[in-house]
Order: sequence, then C-alpha cells, then structure tokens
Amino acid sequence: MTKLRAVKGMNDLLPEELGRWRRLESIFRETAERYGFGEIRTPLLEPTELFVRSIGEATDIVEKEMYTFHDKGEKNLTLRPEGTASCARAYLEHTVGAREAITRWYYLGPMFRRERPTRGRYRQFHQAGVEVYGDPGPFIDAEIIDMLVRFLSELGIVDLRVLLNSLGDQETRQNYREALIRYLEPHRGSLSADSQRRLETNPLRILDSKAPEDQAIIEDAPSILEHLSEEDQAHFDGVRRTLDRLGTPYEIEPRLVRGLDYYSRTLFEVQGRGGELGAQNALAGGGRYDGMIEELGGKATPAFGFALGIERLLLAMGEAEDESRPRVMILAANDEARVEAVALARELRDAGFNIETDLRGTSLKSQLRRADRSGAALAFILGDDELARGVVQWKRLEGEGSGESPREGIASVVAELLGQKVG
Ligand code: AMP
Repeated sequence: MTKLRAVKGMNDLLPEELGRWRRLESIFRETAERYGFGEIRTPLLEPTELFVRSIGEATDIVEKEMYTFHDKGEKNLTLRPEGTASCARAYLEHTVGAREAITRWYYLGPMFRRERPTRGRYRQFHQAGVEVYGDPGPFIDAEIIDMLVRFLSELGIVDLRVLLNSLGDQETRQNYREALIRYLEPHRGSLSADSQRRLETNPLRILDSKAPEDQAIIEDAPSILEHLSEEDQAHFDGVRRTLDRLGTPYEIEPRLVRGLDYYSRTLFEVQGRGGELGAQNALAGGGRYDGMIEELGGKATPAFGFALGIERLLLAMGEAEDESRPRVMILAANDEARVEAVALARELRDAGFNIETDLRGTSLKSQLRRADRSGAALAFILGDDELARGVVQWKRLEGEGSGESPREGIASVVAELLGQKVG
C-alpha cells in the first residue's frame, strides 16, 4: 500500500511549532485592533468568478495557480488564493458601505495557490491582512504602511526594505501601458517566451520578470512615475510626506508592479533580508485598489490593504525562544497515587496552571526520564509515602532543585516555583 502523506506544498503544524505562530498571530491581532480594525472571517471556498473578476484573468494566480473544481451540478468553486477579493465580496454582500463611511477589517487564515513549492513558498500558506474601505487616501495609505512596519519591528524584524511605487489611476495606467508596449515592441524577439506572451495580455507584468534575458530591456523601460497625472502625483506626494513625517524608511521602486491586477495608485512591498528567508524575501505587499468594488458590481469605493505571509515572517524571525507558558508534569508511583494525581492536576488547572499527567503505569524512573525530555518546567511526584504524609515531592526540570511541600495549598508553591501568580 502506498504511504499516505499530506498534499505536496501543504504542511502539518505540530504543537511545538505553533507556539511561535500563536505569538505572531496574537501580536497581529493586538496591533490591528489598536489601529481600529475589526476581524472578519470569510469562507475558504468562493465562486471562481470572484477571483477572475477581481485578481484579473491575465495574472499567474488566475491563469495557473487556483485550486478550482466543479461543485456537483452547481458552479465552479475555488479555494481562495488571497483574502482581498473575499473581503470585497463580503463588504458588498452585507451592504457595509451603506452603513459605514469608513470600514477597517483584518483577517488571518490559510490561502491556496498551486505554485512550485520551495522554502518559503507553499501551496497552502497563511496570510494576515487588513483592508480599509471608504478612504481615498493618501494619508491612510501611509498610516497603514507604517502600521505594518511597526508590527514587523515588534516581531524583531527590522532588517527590511519598504519598496514604494504609484501605478496611477486607470487612465494613467492605460497611457503607460501604451508607452511600455511602444518601447518593448522593437525588443520583442529578445524577450523571454513568458514576456512575449505578456506583451499581448499584461505588459506591466513584464517589469516583474525574473528571466535574465529580460533584465537589460526592463532596465531601460520608461518609468510609470513619469506618466502620473497631476492628481496621481499629489496623491503619491501625500503618501511620501506622511511616511517622511513618521520617519518610516522607504525606497521608490518604479518597476514594482506585483502579481495582482487590481492595484491603482499606491503600491508597496516589504522585503526582508535577515533570518532564514533566502530567495522568497517578499514578506508583505499591498496597495490601493479603488476599482475593485465597482468591478464586482458595487458603487465606486476607494480601498487600501495589505497581506503578509506568516510562514515568511517566521523564517525572517529565525529561531526565537519558545515563549509558551511553562508546564508542570505530575508523576505517580502506583494506581492509588494515580487517582490522586488526576485530582491534583485538576486542582492546579483550576488555579490556572498548565498541567500534564503521566498515568500509563510505567516505572517512576521512566516517567522522570520522559519528563526531563518533555520541555516541562517542573515535576511533581506522588507515591504511597507522600499520600500517607499529605505531601508532594517536586523536582525542577529546568535548572537544579528539588524538595517536598504540603499537599494543602500546593497552588501557591507551584506559583512560587514557576515565578508566576496564582490564577
Ligand atoms: P500576495 O497576496 O501575492 O500579495 O502576497 C502577499 C504575501 O503573502 C507575500 O509577500 C508572501 O509573504 C506571502 N505569500 C504569497 N504567496 C505565498 C506562497 N505560495 N507561500 C508562502 N507565502 C506566500
């Protein structure tokens, strides 16, 4: 029989890894809430059409990376490849815009893209993101970029670059698209096959190409920043002025286009340099997408957001200390003591401690050996003698020390040994 394994590019997350995940998630939630965001959770499955219409037909995601299937007799469904489209759909479906002038949402959860898996790139990965509806910017754009940078620095990720660009409004992009095609057309034969195809479908994405044969050509391409209208320029200046005032460092990168079609005006990406990131150094990206809500059938509504990749942040953070709360192991020498161990464990859990029991009936020696390797901070040992005298033995598993304490009022002894308050 073939061995059953997880789907390629999709990972199990075991308890020993999840301590870091949960810490990151809780700092993200706290940060988002401090900035006035409320959480939204949307389904993992959406109508395929949602992503085709919002992300854009000629993008890598829609062309080749979506997990799509036909739902028996119903329509095509797709596992969400990102969060922005789902939030926009929910915003429309619940007519949120009619009730609120400005809406601030954040989300966390798994996303699915059929990419080639490598370190930092998976087929099921996790994003955290925010969306703001109803504010045309530019000041909010800077506020949110700064929020992201501060969140990253709270995680200890300070070795980073913020790349900033403006794609202008629809008319600007149309003009630029034409200028870019005019420039690229004479080089058509020297471009990579992918870029030749994109020349027809999505020429801006050529700027994003990693193919070596494209690099010199891209280098001399006209810059979108030279095509900004007066309003686009004023918007871009407003973002920059606010970031400058906040002291948030950024670099202007006129070739930044990113993989989604829905952006307008402000576009940014945060790249990491430290930790174990390697080639997948894009930590987060986002920007303004003023056209999306209208594209999905709603009233024109300005919008701004970003998404960050949780796996990438964990790589950028490197090996951090496990900060999960210390555990206490309760060991017992015989069945009578095991009954008492269960009761003692319940009492300590009620007092707010994390307790694990070992009730299998193995020798105390082997229980102690296991406790030593378990990562627990403290072991309590119960046997006939302890039961008769109304005491428990304790032994530190991290560092040195052991002793005996009365069973009565044991919670305060645990608190003292762990250096915690009784819950
Ligand atoms: P995007 O939704 O493409 O703008 O991506 C936003 C962030 O999600 C990126 O900067 C990455 O950190 C992360 N990300 C995107 N695709 C993947 C993937 N296949 N595996 C892991 N992280 C990803």
